[in-house]
Amino acid sequence: MTEEELKQFKAALSITAVAADLGVPVVRGRCKCFFPQRHAHGDRTPSVSFSEERGTFRCWVCDDVRGDVISLVQIVKNCSFLEALNWLKETYHFLVPGAKSSMQNHAIAPNAASANTPMQNHSATQNASLVAKVAVHEAALEYNSPEPAKELVTEDERKKIILSFLKMLSPVDKTPAAAYLARRRIYKPIWDKMLLRTITDYGALNNKLKETYDLEVLKYVGLFSEKGNLRYYKHPLFFPYLDTKRRSCYFQARAIDSTVVPKELNLRGTVPYPYNVSALDQKPGWVYLCEGVVDTLTFLGQSISAVGIPGVRSFKTEWLPLFKNKSVVLCLDKDEAGRSGTEYLQSVFTQANIRTVVLGEGLENYDKITMKEGDDINSWFGGKK
Ligand SMILES: [Zn+2]
Repeated sequence: MTEEELKQFKAALSITAVAADLGVPVVRGRCKCFFPQRHAHGDRTPSVSFSEERGTFRCWVCDDVRGDVISLVQIVKNCSFLEALNWLKETYHFLVPGAKSSMQNHAIAPNAASANTPMQNHSATQNASLVAKVAVHEAALEYNSPEPAKELVTEDERKKIILSFLKMLSPVDKTPAAAYLARRRIYKPIWDKMLLRTITDYGALNNKLKETYDLEVLKYVGLFSEKGNLRYYKHPLFFPYLDTKRRSCYFQARAIDSTVVPKELNLRGTVPYPYNVSALDQKPGWVYLCEGVVDTLTFLGQSISAVGIPGVRSFKTEWLPLFKNKSVVLCLDKDEAGRSGTEYLQSVFTQANIRTVVLGEGLENYDKITMKEGDDINSWFGGKK
């Protein structure tokens, strides 16, 4: 795990959810000290406080009881840094950046175990297709290539370059991207509302960018490949992450040819906030939390309030205050990665006193309205792949 990956992994972990899994109940951001003997009355009034946003904890009496999520595991399990990190990586394997899905192991197990009955053959085939799906799914999450060590432009300049790049792109109307979206029942009002963009002339845009900016800078901000060309040759559909002022310094690019892998390319660096963050307006109500932009747009097309994250791994606990006053419907993909992620997010939101329900749960007897294994939101609403 690189330093950057460790940073991302820690940002994805909810310190209070980890505490709960360690058997330490955190109530209103506090728990009893792990060394009650150092406190008057065995620390009857809990002295250890947690900051979910910073991912830290500290005891107001003991100087050595403080730190991040890894220190917490070290103290509670009385183990080394490495042992604590390994425990976290095992327990929250679905949050580890770039990790292989555990699905592969599960898929091999059933038919390796015994003779091939027709039934098992059937499930083996199903599993094989699931493995493929998860593999693609994982590839799509490779949004964190390591950042160059030297800072070529400031963070503000980087944002300005991304914004000006997005301004060079064309609206999707009457382009192949429009046809792609329409097949998924996502139509013009949503294209315009979310400022969806596309590349119509790759060569011209490539040259224009090279004339406007230094090549090293274009590589540094993540728009250009090491070979010195604009990425997104195969990913011409752009989903800008608009802030509440409809400005954007982050985006996801999408392939519209279904044979392209990965199907999504995220801009390098961390996801600044969920997609369609404007839905998190601090007013009481429901919001649907989806995996991926297409699912989010599908809901918006149905006038349902929704936000999106590229994957559970990119969810950050520092975003929890954004969800204030909301109840959250979790709509992750119905595959193994999605299920582990759902359970995890349920626990994270519950710790933050945010109510959650899982889409379709309790509707198992209604075949038509329940998402099936391998379904995502778009196919559920009748969109075509
Ligand atoms: Zn203490």
